[in-house]
Amino acid sequence: MPIYEFGCKKCGYVFEKIQGMNDPQPLCPKCGGETRRLISPVAFKMASDTALKRVEKRFNDYVRWGKYKDAVRFAKKASEYIKHDKIKKMQERVERKLEQSR
Ligand SMILES: [Zn+2]
Repeated sequence: MPIYEFGCKKCGYVFEKIQGMNDPQPLCPKCGGETRRLISPVAFKMASDTALKRVEKRFNDYVRWGKYKDAVRFAKKASEYIKHDKIKKMQERVERKLEQSR
């Protein structure tokens, strides 16, 4: 069975647990709060390149259409799943653009 990483929604504690697909979401061992499944480090490494390319493409589409706010919102959402400097930089670039146009 695969090892998953879970993060507590309440206190932010991150822990690993071996789990089957149908097992219920574990509770936080620290505070008993609800958790959400994060991408395990191994799966993350393999998926990150493809995922990042997909995110970049979608982001650039938004920018090309002039939907800067949507682009920023999308980048923020994507950063929750893919931790990557590139996404953060893309987001900041467009946020600056938004500020200048104000
Ligand atoms: Zn907790």
